[in-house]
Amino acid sequence: MEKKKFYITTPIYYPSAEFHIGHCYTTIIADAIARYKRLSGYDVFFQTGTDEHGQKIEKKAEEKGVSPIDYVNPIIENAKDLWSKLGISYDYFIRTTDEDHEKRVQEIFKIMYDKGDIYKGEYKGLYCTPCESFWTESQLDENGKCPDCHRDVHEVKEEAYFFRLSKYQDKLVEFYDKNPNFIQPISRKNEMLNNFIKPGLEDLCVSRTSFKWGIPVTFDDKHVIYVWIDALSNYITSLGYPDTNSELFKKYWPADLHLVGKEIVRFHTIIWPCMLMSLGLELPKQVFGHGWLIIDGGKISKSSGNYKDPREYINEYGVDAVRYFALREVPFGNDGNFSEDALIARTNADLVNTLGNLVNRTIAMSKKYFDSKVENPKVYEEIDDTLINYAKMLPSIVENKMNALKVNEALEDIFELLKRSNKYIDDTTPWVLAKDEQNSDRLKTVLYNLLESIRISAILLNAFIPNTSERIFKMLNTKNTSFDTLEFGNLETDITLNEAEILFNRIDTNK
Ligand SMILES: [Zn+2]
Repeated sequence: MEKKKFYITTPIYYPSAEFHIGHCYTTIIADAIARYKRLSGYDVFFQTGTDEHGQKIEKKAEEKGVSPIDYVNPIIENAKDLWSKLGISYDYFIRTTDEDHEKRVQEIFKIMYDKGDIYKGEYKGLYCTPCESFWTESQLDENGKCPDCHRDVHEVKEEAYFFRLSKYQDKLVEFYDKNPNFIQPISRKNEMLNNFIKPGLEDLCVSRTSFKWGIPVTFDDKHVIYVWIDALSNYITSLGYPDTNSELFKKYWPADLHLVGKEIVRFHTIIWPCMLMSLGLELPKQVFGHGWLIIDGGKISKSSGNYKDPREYINEYGVDAVRYFALREVPFGNDGNFSEDALIARTNADLVNTLGNLVNRTIAMSKKYFDSKVENPKVYEEIDDTLINYAKMLPSIVENKMNALKVNEALEDIFELLKRSNKYIDDTTPWVLAKDEQNSDRLKTVLYNLLESIRISAILLNAFIPNTSERIFKMLNTKNTSFDTLEFGNLETDITLNEAEILFNRIDTNK
C-alpha cells in the first residue's frame, strides 16, 4: 500500500544575524512532528530554509563591506551546523538565493501579471526597515511607531507593482468558513478576520525599486520582487512549481502543515492563500501559529542583544535536554519562557529524576536479581492494572495529541507512564520480593512490566528526544522499536539486557 504523504514546513528564516533559541524552538517542534509522522508510517517531506533577499540584508552587508551573498553565506552555514547539532531531520533546505527558486519566482510573478492579478501603480507607505514591513497610519502603535517592533517608520513613495489581494477577500472568507481548522489555534483565525479581513484587504505592493538585493522582475528589471512572492513561494518552488508535472509537486502539494510564529500568521493565512488562488492551486491544509519562546521574560531579538548561541546550551546540557525543554515547556499556541534556570529545572525533574532513574533502577534490578535476563511468567496482581492499562492506551492518547498539535501534552502523557512506573516500583517493592525465592516469578513479572513500559515510552519518545530513545533501545537490547510493536507484551523474553548507562547527569544548580 502506498504511504500517505505529509508535507510540513517551518518558515524560511531571515539570516540578517545568527540564529537564536527562538529559531530553534520552531524548528524543533517541526522536527518532532515530522519524526512522529514518519514513525507512524507517513511519507514525510520536511522543509526549512532561509529568506535571504531584502533591504535590511543589503544594508547590513554594505556596513560590513561585503556583498549580500557573502554576508548571508556564513550565517547559513552556521544555521545548518546548528540544525545538525539539534538533530533536525529536514528533507530539504531551501534558500531564496537558489538559482532554481529565483527562476521559478520570476515565472510565478509573470503568471500572476499575465492573469491581471499584478498591476503597476505607485506605492506610498510607512516603512519599518528592521521589520521590512509597510504599515498604514491606522496600524501604527500609539506613538506612531511600528506596531511590531515599536521603532521609527518613515514614508516611502515609489513606482511599484501590486497584487490584487482585495479581489480574493470574499473567496478567502469562504475558504475559512469551509475549512474551520485551517488556522490553529482558533483564536488566531478570529484575529485575522476581525483585524485584517473585515476592515477590507488592500492590494499588496509586491515589487521595489529602492533596493537591488532581490529577484528582478523579468519584464521590468528596475524592479525587484518584494518579499511576499519571493518568500512565500518557497513552499512550492522547492517542489518544482510552476512545473505542475514535477514528481515532488504532484506528490506533496498541498502542504499539510505550515508551522509559523504568531507574528507571521497573517502572511500565511491571508497573503499566501490569495496568491495560491491566483495561481489556481490548492490551499495548504493547516497553518499553526505557535507562541514565542520568550527569553528571560523578554522577546528574543537580534537587535536587543539577549542572544546566546544555542550551541552553548547543547554543549552544556546535551541536545535532548534542549529539545525536551523546547517541546515540553511551551503550551499549545501560547508563549513560553526560556531561561537557563528553567532548562536546568526541567532537566533535573523530568529527564534525570523521572526518566533516567526509572531506566537505571529497572535495569540494575534486572541485573542484580536475574543476571539481566528478561522473562515474563505472567504472575499478575491487581496493582499491575493501572500501569498496564495506561501503557496500552498511551499510543492512542499520544496520537490524538499530536494530531491536535498539542506536542507539550503528548510529552506530558508519555511522562505520565514513566511516573506511574516509578510509583509501581515503590508499590511492588521488588527488593522485598527478592528476599524470598518463592516470589521469583512475581518479581520477573514486575520487572517485565517495568521494562515493557520503558520500551513503549522509548518508542513514543523517539520523535522528541531521539538520541535518548536510541540509547534506551540499546540498553534494552530489543529489536521491537517501531510503532507497529507498540502493543504491550512485545518485549522479547529471550533477551539479555545490556549494561545500564546514565542517561542524564543531574545539573548542579549552585554552579
Ligand atoms: Zn518594526
